[in-house]
Amino acid sequence: MANGHEGGCLCGAVRYETGSDPLRVSVCHCTWCQRRTGSAFAVEALFEKSQIVIVGTTSKFRSNSDESGRWIDLEFCPKCGTNIGFTFERLPSHRMIDSGTFDDPSWINPDRFDFRYVYLRSAQCWSEVPPGAKAFEAFFPT
Ligand SMILES: [Zn+2]
Ligand SMILES: [Zn+2]
Repeated sequence: MANGHEGGCLCGAVRYETGSDPLRVSVCHCTWCQRRTGSAFAVEALFEKSQIVIVGTTSKFRSNSDESGRWIDLEFCPKCGTNIGFTFERLPSHRMIDSGTFDDPSWINPDRFDFRYVYLRSAQCWSEVPPGAKAFEAFFPT
């Protein structure tokens, strides 16, 4: 596929393929992402749902945003627990893919795509944002 990319979970039970490049990439420092990834921030690539084919069955966990109360369905491999990404009520026609799950995540970089650093108000003090990056205290205005 032109501009297609493949990825999957650690154990291989869940695989996916995209039919396009991401629309944008969010580097999210919110506390929800810190907990769901067990890390300091998440790197989330946004796609239209129609551009993603998932092979294998994911498990879902529904959270509600503390701020808006809207749902976010986290998807993960039921066998190895890898976070594949999530869908969310604010943009139900789209899907976020956790960028570290691509077979080669190196093509996702700020030189190629629209990177936005969000929820910096809850960033860890050592998390640095590159100079000149689009940075937001919370979500960016839509
Ligand atoms: Zn797995
Ligand atoms: Zn987040």
